[in-house]
Amino acid sequence: MTEHVLVINAGSSSLKYSLVDAATGEAAATGLVERIGEDRSHHVHNGHEDDQRVPDHEAALEAAVQVFDKYGPSLSEIEIVAVGHRVVHGGDRFAAPALVDDDLIAAVKDLIPLAPLHNPANLEGIEVARRLFPDLPHVAVFDTAFHQTLPPYAYTYAVPSSWLDDYGIRRYGFHGTSHAFVSEQAARVLGRDPGDVNMIVLHLGNGCSAAAVRGGQSVDTSMGFTPLEGLVMGTRSGDVDPAIHGHLARVAGRTAEETDRSLNSESGLKGLTGANDFREVLRLRANGDERAKLAFDLYCYRLKKYIGAYYAVLGTVDAVVFTAGVGQHSAEARAAAVAGLEGLGIHLDPIRNADPSGPVVSTDESPVKVLVIPTNEEWEIARQSVAVLAAR
Ligand code: ADP
Repeated sequence: MTEHVLVINAGSSSLKYSLVDAATGEAAATGLVERIGEDRSHHVHNGHEDDQRVPDHEAALEAAVQVFDKYGPSLSEIEIVAVGHRVVHGGDRFAAPALVDDDLIAAVKDLIPLAPLHNPANLEGIEVARRLFPDLPHVAVFDTAFHQTLPPYAYTYAVPSSWLDDYGIRRYGFHGTSHAFVSEQAARVLGRDPGDVNMIVLHLGNGCSAAAVRGGQSVDTSMGFTPLEGLVMGTRSGDVDPAIHGHLARVAGRTAEETDRSLNSESGLKGLTGANDFREVLRLRANGDERAKLAFDLYCYRLKKYIGAYYAVLGTVDAVVFTAGVGQHSAEARAAAVAGLEGLGIHLDPIRNADPSGPVVSTDESPVKVLVIPTNEEWEIARQSVAVLAAR
């Protein structure tokens, strides 16, 4: 039986949706409404553009329902079994996806201080969708949930212990839906049970994170209290010395807010080169731009450091897995990230890596496989939603 899930990812001024067959991952429709609340919003549904003013998220979802009628597939002909919602922060309350009810909504509201930009938008999406689809079960799938298996020594910061109790300050990790999906697919490619495989997953999109996955469970990840920690990203710095905040306050009079904003929005590849898009950095580098060369080197050096660290965390590694925009498409980044790691049993096959015809880009003899696996967070949300329904 085909079970379709309407997957919703509500951002502060956008609403992304797809209608996914939970068994196959096939999307019967995908759509995006952007610039909600502005004079002219932008709506794309299965490639059809349908621009009009969309004042709020409720109107955005109503517009989505209308274009299903206009461009298909007709929602009356497809049985939707659930609405699956991406929720960024589940704190330490949610280690698994959960059915939406009033308690869940209250819990996600309580977590707003930890994700002040994302959780309110995700909640708005849930509330609007519950009004439009009151008879369907709604499931919340948390970006942090997969990393709730981190041991205390991996998630605790060495700061006054009262900060955890008073302010929830600890590492949570993000991109969990992607890491869960990709690590399971990777085990499948290796023909192994996920419970028997150790791997390092590198999700390299606009945001980037690494995860050490032991037997299907996340045991460490590079993003921390917020998605700022860890790898170099499109506009985020990744790891920096936290003393930078105090220093800039003293010597430049910069407020914590200002430095926060710079580290999140004006740093990473953008801060180093002016371009946050990895393709543009590659183009500038190919033209001899020194800043782009440094940015590429720094980006890949940071990746290599995390591969080394997580190798040590895991002890034995079966696979290094690359996913998301850069991970899937940049042979140069993959090659630079694992260059010189032959001593760890990681042997890239340059020809396979340059033009992957399948997921494996390491040599046949390589003890550690290097894999390229497309992520599919919508499918994972659909699968997890159906699993929650089955467990009711
Ligand atoms: P998001 O995190 O928004 O889902 P994606 O997974 O789509 O992002 O990744 C976006 C990043 O992938 C951008 O930096 C983009 O430049 C990079 N990217 C996409 N295609 C390529 C490519 N062919 N070569 C190198 N980088 C690419």
